[in-house]
Amino acid sequence: MNDATSTGAGHGPVVPGGAGDGTRAVRAGLPEPVKHEPTLPGPVFAAHFHLPGDPTGPYTYGRDENPTWTLLERAISELEAPGRDDVETLVFASGMAAISSVLFSQLRAGDAVVLPDDGYQALPLVRAQLEAYGIEVRTAPTGGDAQLEVLDGARLLWIETPSNPGLDVCDVRRLAEAAHAQGALVAVDNTLATPLGQLPLELGADFAVASGTKQLTGHGDVLLGYVTGRSGEAMAAVRRWRKIAGAIPGPMEAWLAHRSIATLQLRVDRQNATALTLARALRERPEVTDLRYPGLPDDPSHKTASLQMRRYGCVVSFTLPSRARADRFLDALRLVDDATSFGGVRSTAERRGRWGGDAVPEGFVRFSVGAEDPADLVADVLRALDASAG
Ligand SMILES: *Cc1c(COP(=O)(O)O)cnc(C)c1O
Repeated sequence: MNDATSTGAGHGPVVPGGAGDGTRAVRAGLPEPVKHEPTLPGPVFAAHFHLPGDPTGPYTYGRDENPTWTLLERAISELEAPGRDDVETLVFASGMAAISSVLFSQLRAGDAVVLPDDGYQALPLVRAQLEAYGIEVRTAPTGGDAQLEVLDGARLLWIETPSNPGLDVCDVRRLAEAAHAQGALVAVDNTLATPLGQLPLELGADFAVASGTKQLTGHGDVLLGYVTGRSGEAMAAVRRWRKIAGAIPGPMEAWLAHRSIATLQLRVDRQNATALTLARALRERPEVTDLRYPGLPDDPSHKTASLQMRRYGCVVSFTLPSRARADRFLDALRLVDDATSFGGVRSTAERRGRWGGDAVPEGFVRFSVGAEDPADLVADVLRALDASAG
């Protein structure tokens, strides 16, 4: 297809190999400087491009390619696969579009796929659709290596680590090795960790897939998804699926996402550090049970997480004694919006059970830590816990 755009031709100055995450984030995907042009060119709004003569790429029609996507795709490749030039990234209208593109482009009737049974809440809907197409769906929980028992003859292993909302973690290296030994491909949903938290391709996965709606873009104003994988047949099929389904991001969304990635390291370091601080404060509270944060040294996920993650995410989960208590707690918060999603600079929290679908207790709260001053946030949470008692 459009090889000129997928191989990084015309790429800007490459950030030195040993550069830190902040340096890579601020420079990711920038084009070669051009006098009188902005550092990050603005969004290119185009349904079609001038195309006299033979219709050759890179830019022909707006559902196939767009220069604003190209820069964003390079930026994400640089973050997901530092120092590699054999990978490509494709951006999508949402995380679900990215997930669907991998599943529906790689699987055929008669294939078997292994999905998590404790992953993102739309996966059961995806399962029903896969089954309607004659694909066998097997499931396994994220933690505990149960995937190994259902791998036999599978075409694709799908893992989500840390899982949303349970925050369980699986050993990507071990599972990828086992899957590859059986001839299965491996996809990792990297939404919660972000590429600054873990690098699925480096751990052996074939695809890093994520919702950029969450911490990658971090402002709660954009829906986005992406797939990163080694250039070749599998990614060509993902690209073809995007063209067929038309699940493409608008140029404005792609540009906003690229702009937001410049602050990724600042945001994740601040938010993730505060998440650990909040988890430590919550641990002291008797009404809080089943507290989970993979960065807590005694969390059940920590040992495996520390083998493969450099940052542990901004999501903390815990259970309050009842649905009513959790509702009163969420009501009493002043600095935290009662809203779904996670990863934004403004803290959000929700009682996850209100959606149905996740196997969680009624009092289960998923808390996404934002970029507020840690002391203010912790004080607000402790005050809301006090106010919701009784
Ligand atoms: C939100 C989320 C998705 C779906 O992403 P959208 O951008 O909402 O389509 C997929 N996986 C995980 C882990 C998520 O948190």
